[in-house]
Amino acid sequence: MYSAPKQASQRRILYVEDDTDLHQLFRLGGEDAGFLVEICSSGEDALELHAARPFDLMVIDYRLPGMNGIELARTLLARDDSFPIVMLSGVGDANDATDALSLGVFSYLVKDRDDIYLLTLPKIIEAALRQGEVTERAEFAETALRENLERFRDFAESSSDWLWEMDADLRFTYMSPNVERIVGVPAEWYYGKTHEERFGPDYDNPHWEEHLQILQERKPFRNFVYRREGEGIEPKWLSTNGKPIFAEDGTFRGYRGSGSDITARRESENLLREAIATMSEGFALYDAEERLVMCNEAYKRTLPRISKLGLLEPGTKFEEIVRGGIEAGYTPAAYDSQEEHLSARMERFRNPNGPFEYLTTAGQWIRFEERKTSNGGTVAIRTDITERKKAENELAERETLLRRVIDHIPALISLKDRDGRYVMVNKGFCDTFGVAPEQAIGKSIGELTGADAEAERFASLDREVIETGSVLYDENDVTTADGMYVRSATKFPVFDAAGRVDRIGTVSVNISHRKETEALRAASQAKSEFLSSMSHELRTPLNSILGFSQLLADDPDDPLSARHQRYVQQVLDNGEHLLALINQVLDLSKIEAGKVPVKIEDVDLSAMLQDCVAMSKPQADERNIKIDIGRDEKSIDACRADTLQLRQVLLNLISNAIKYNEDRGTVTIEVSRHAPEIVRISVADTGAGIPEDLQQHIFEPFNRLGRETSNIQGSGIGLTIAKELVELMGGNIGFSSGSGGSTFWIELPATA
Ligand code: ADP
Repeated sequence: MYSAPKQASQRRILYVEDDTDLHQLFRLGGEDAGFLVEICSSGEDALELHAARPFDLMVIDYRLPGMNGIELARTLLARDDSFPIVMLSGVGDANDATDALSLGVFSYLVKDRDDIYLLTLPKIIEAALRQGEVTERAEFAETALRENLERFRDFAESSSDWLWEMDADLRFTYMSPNVERIVGVPAEWYYGKTHEERFGPDYDNPHWEEHLQILQERKPFRNFVYRREGEGIEPKWLSTNGKPIFAEDGTFRGYRGSGSDITARRESENLLREAIATMSEGFALYDAEERLVMCNEAYKRTLPRISKLGLLEPGTKFEEIVRGGIEAGYTPAAYDSQEEHLSARMERFRNPNGPFEYLTTAGQWIRFEERKTSNGGTVAIRTDITERKKAENELAERETLLRRVIDHIPALISLKDRDGRYVMVNKGFCDTFGVAPEQAIGKSIGELTGADAEAERFASLDREVIETGSVLYDENDVTTADGMYVRSATKFPVFDAAGRVDRIGTVSVNISHRKETEALRAASQAKSEFLSSMSHELRTPLNSILGFSQLLADDPDDPLSARHQRYVQQVLDNGEHLLALINQVLDLSKIEAGKVPVKIEDVDLSAMLQDCVAMSKPQADERNIKIDIGRDEKSIDACRADTLQLRQVLLNLISNAIKYNEDRGTVTIEVSRHAPEIVRISVADTGAGIPEDLQQHIFEPFNRLGRETSNIQGSGIGLTIAKELVELMGGNIGFSSGSGGSTFWIELPATA
């Protein structure tokens, strides 16, 4: 152990002397000279005190009881050969002095006079101490140097960096041995070589020229990165730092520096770079000075115009980038001025507060987010979300459309959660229950209607849907704001991602109206059946009346008087009319009961019309009415219909056109193609027409529109039958009527 030389003020000296008379004298001289003085009487005590706390010097009396002075000195000097000792002796003896001095004692002094304690001894002590300190300092320096060298060697050996030196010609003069472990080439290999001789020019590294330039200019450098390649050498990325060395007079002495292997770091950096490059998001890193450190292609793609300006290169300040954008025309409409936009953008960059989305003037939707890194830099992520936005908008549009459809469907549509609480209701639902959507959401049906029994019934159906996961149909009575109605409900499960029934959907339709119609239809059916059987019952006796009347009128053996002949003719006429009426009623009831067979086939229209005209001619002739058949220029020969029923319909229309015509009027029958696949047959007359206010009742059974009081015979059901038959054949019937007459038409499918 070596320690730095002590300060004079701290110097402690020990006087070993058995003659106590001398103690005071020594103390006087020593303290006067500025030493810390201690005194003991034997060699043993001296060693003990020295061991407890070492002295800087000892003054020892030659003759001591027990261990004598020379033995004490020997012991001390054996431990530390530079320990300063001054030996005192009562009687000067040349042999003793020689012994002492040869041991290494600093001085030997005879205590023959008191004044040596006051004058001589302090000076000798001073000299001894000085010599001791010089020795100590020299040893200290040497040791420190050795230690520093060892330390340097240890550092150099264990460090992951190697150390190097080059001379003024830039040739390597030193390489720490660990270079071999790190780079794979022994230190000696470098000695005397320049950079160029070592590797040859490294053309791949554009910075080499720059680096050599720096060396020529004798400037310091940091983190110069280069690639070490060569035959039989594992390629490596190395980094080096260096500083020039100058002599005191300023002459350049060379360089000194360190190098390190950064291959692993470089490779992970490259991996990271590659990962960043392949990211679909735009990525950029800015340093604490707001300069772009790096960015990937995707980042550039979200800023095409700025990128085109060449601003997205490392080193560009963020503010320059924003300004470039402004020049390229990117000033969001939200800001009044470019300066306002610039300061708002810089503020956001410096104090990021979450993601931000905006629409560029080029119609791109961009989402960006910036975050501070721990070293004061900024990470920026930019994503083109145009597609997502488009999809979102489409979804929103579709949702709106769906919502409108749902609201306008004449049904009640709702969604309930598993607890039977509404999460969605449509307009039909709200209208029926007389609530606003927000009043229904979160409530159960019981809370809405207050009808507990019904609510319990619905709840049990809902539970069934939840348990079975299947669709249920139900028909039941519901209490609403307007009273009771009958509903037909379809309940269906809506599953969550885990396949669990999450919601119960209900579509219910008010079928009260349908129920009423069904009841009406049943009543009408009963009526038809009644009429049918009645007509039947009436026809039998009527036929008998007509038969016997005919017999009366025609009996050649017993002819009737002229008067009776007139009466019987009256019976026959009215009987015929009644029979026609009964037949028509029977026809109608048959049609209504669905008992009329219909056979659709191609009907030859030309033959059919000629037939009908011939049959109607006697009736027309009675009143000098002309019947014309006009034809479409492209003659239409056929349509699809039931021959018998079509004939009945046409005869009825022609008969009406004659009946309600004026004398010497005209009936015009025309066939035309109404649409490519529809044939229209119209029957027009020149009669008085049908009063407008009565037209709507024309197809009602037994409604003769006031003609019942006229002398025109009729039953009021001919058109009713015609309409039923035309519709049975898949056609339409209609008319138009004015003061110039009426036109009735029927439309039927054309032949294929
Ligand atoms: P009706 O047996 O009374 O002729 P229809 O059912 O054939 O019964 O006709 C119903 C009513 O429509 C007729 O009573 C008549 O008032 C009116 N009508 C029918 N065809 C014509 C027409 N061509 N011109 C004027 N009125 C007509």
